[in-house]
Amino acid sequence: MTEPSAPARPHAFLPPRATVREVGLRDGLQSIARTLPTAHKREWIRAAHAAGQREIEVGSFVPARLLPQLADTAELLAFAKTLPGLFASVLVPNLKGAERAIEGEADLLVVPLSASHAHSLANLRKTPDEVVAEVGRIRAARDAAGSRTLIEGGVGTAFGCTLQGPVAPEEVLRLMQALLDAGADRVSLADTVGYADPAMVRRLFERARAIAGERLWCGHFHDTRGLGLANVYAALEVGIARFDACLAGIGGCPHAPGASGNVDTEDLLFMLQSMGVATGVDLRQLLALRGRVAQWLDGETLQGTLWRAGFPKTFAQEEVAA
Ligand code: ZN
Repeated sequence: MTEPSAPARPHAFLPPRATVREVGLRDGLQSIARTLPTAHKREWIRAAHAAGQREIEVGSFVPARLLPQLADTAELLAFAKTLPGLFASVLVPNLKGAERAIEGEADLLVVPLSASHAHSLANLRKTPDEVVAEVGRIRAARDAAGSRTLIEGGVGTAFGCTLQGPVAPEEVLRLMQALLDAGADRVSLADTVGYADPAMVRRLFERARAIAGERLWCGHFHDTRGLGLANVYAALEVGIARFDACLAGIGGCPHAPGASGNVDTEDLLFMLQSMGVATGVDLRQLLALRGRVAQWLDGETLQGTLWRAGFPKTFAQEEVAA
């Protein structure tokens, strides 16, 4: 008996390799009240690079009075630029921040946009379309400076919002297209407050990929309700091969009460490597770094199951070239 409606696609397509972009120094530390000394942050970046991580978001060019924890971003960017092969990104809320990122020769700057209008006004004090217009100005400034810094438009609250509730997928996709039209080189989708489930992720990322193709280049998930890794897997299946994550699962959102924790870097790398998806990271070395970061952040709530349970005997660690 034939089933003409059976899908032709393979049941599970996984990319041969994936990149975990470390955002602990930005998304993680911005939600922690204490300020980690710059020397510790440099050590974090250095050791993450030594373990094989090649994309790190080192901070955010926001006014220091708003986020004193991230006031040393320019210095960290300069340090990151000294490490061979490291692709250093920064978050910028506006043109002013973008000018600092361009001046510091960031490889990429991420402009956050909230698809939820309520979250956008609370978090960025702009409507989403005002952020799109700002991206147009950032693109003009980048081009005028002859800079090679890439511009990523990060569409946040893409799966719902603590302030507004539902966020229509059509609005998310409209804003994503608008960001590309305004000059963003890359776009990404973020579940800022941990509302997504794997079915939603699959549906939205599939539609987004049909629009943006390879320019859709990152998924950003929070593990607020335990679905972080399942959401990553759903995005992997539609061909997304880059994910934001925080060492020790730190992070949250100042406007999303209880949105504790990005996807945990070590657990995500463990999942990818277990499935044979290459990551380029020496996981044992990274766990040693996690131990140090945990000491520096003594008293903070940390996440991560690999840290607690250790490696299973059956786990074959990825061979990573030194
Ligand atoms: Zn986040």
